[in-house]
Amino acid sequence: MNYNIKDYFDFKFRLKPKHKQKIINTCYFSAVFVAFVLSLAHNNRVEASIDNQDYFSYIIVEDNINQNVENEETIDTSNNIKAMFDMVDNLLTSKNIEKEVTLESGDTLISMLKRVGADRETANDIFYSLKEHYDPRNLKAGQKLKVNVAIDTKSENIKSINYLMIEPVPGERIITANNNGIYETHVEKQEFIDEISSISGTVDGNLSASMNKKGIPMRVISNFINLFSYSVDFKRDLQKDDKFEIVYESQILPDGTLVKSGNILYAGLILRKQKISLYRFMDSNGKVDYYTENGRALKKILDRKPLANKNARISSPFGKRFHPILKKYKIHWGVDYAAATGTPVYAGGDGVVQVVKYNGSYGNYIKIRHNSEFSTAYGHMSRFANGIRPGVRVTQGQIIAYVGSTGRSTGPHLHYEVIQNGRRVNPRTIKASTGENLSGNNLKKFQKVVAKFDKDFGKSFAKGKDLKLAKR
Ligand SMILES: [Zn+2]
Repeated sequence: MNYNIKDYFDFKFRLKPKHKQKIINTCYFSAVFVAFVLSLAHNNRVEASIDNQDYFSYIIVEDNINQNVENEETIDTSNNIKAMFDMVDNLLTSKNIEKEVTLESGDTLISMLKRVGADRETANDIFYSLKEHYDPRNLKAGQKLKVNVAIDTKSENIKSINYLMIEPVPGERIITANNNGIYETHVEKQEFIDEISSISGTVDGNLSASMNKKGIPMRVISNFINLFSYSVDFKRDLQKDDKFEIVYESQILPDGTLVKSGNILYAGLILRKQKISLYRFMDSNGKVDYYTENGRALKKILDRKPLANKNARISSPFGKRFHPILKKYKIHWGVDYAAATGTPVYAGGDGVVQVVKYNGSYGNYIKIRHNSEFSTAYGHMSRFANGIRPGVRVTQGQIIAYVGSTGRSTGPHLHYEVIQNGRRVNPRTIKASTGENLSGNNLKKFQKVVAKFDKDFGKSFAKGKDLKLAKR
């Protein structure tokens, strides 16, 4: 069958409007697709050709695609053929490129925008639009901004600035974008994910390096070390193959970027197979502290009177005194507490027993090292408690011996010394302990927390498996 050009037009115009629209739409989308492919090929060329300009670094170009999709929605369908050609034409003559610009010392937003290629009016428009949400004077040298520019593909000149993007803090973006010649600013906030990390590992030489190798942020590591610094001498107590365990909170962005590292919920150290566990807990008064698994508060300060009898009187204070046996003035390097023979003597703080022996005028003597700064010594005891020998780790309040009158002594009493950085100091003037042990309902609640922790993390710690969990 023959038909001429007239027949074709007759055919075309006899189509129902609905069908006609379908054909136009099909043409339109095909054209957009072709334009899209062209733009991809084109982009690479543009990017490569200006790659070695000095103060910009280029990042992935992706904006033509998004912008075209947006344009597609705003096009009036009655004009879509024309719009399609405009768009193809635009794609061929103009490219959108996103640049990362670093603010230099002495730069202002306006000077930076001008350097990128904005004219004075555009730079001012962007400045005032941005200012409604963010004071551009808060920008600092070294800060990175993103500028998306339309570039003429022939001349490679900048035609216009599509948008400026500032990320003042991770997860927050302030975008000033060109909307039909008017710059409008909006703020985008990404939602943080609250994450809980549970990580364990072996100490290989240096604790903080070993923890850092596992990806734990330095701020969390230094808090971890602070928690133990009252009971562990990190230089001497840590040995190869000792272990650490930690559960801590952090806030991350959906892409995994760390926004903020938060509280340590659990901290554990296994030193020569002896484990010290500390759990974070808020009591019914809202007071937050760290407690051992039995609800004992992390005691940061040494006990002033490490005796079961808290009413024991001071029979001889610290300092210069007339010695009752030697009959002369002498400095008394400790405090004497008079108490009945057999009264339990406590460890003044958490630490490692260093000396257990009969020590001349001290009689039965114990020395405990608490940390790199403090040690305590105890004299004249009648006997030592079971299991107390050098190298054993003790906790504050643990019975280490019993009051007696061994050595140079006139009656049963405890001679107690506090040694700070190698010098004996007055035990009465060291600060009183702040932490209070848990009891009653607080203790019950705390025991539930401990049980939940052991259930949630105990197995993975035992297997050396690290976990990352989204909170709630
Ligand atoms: Zn004494």
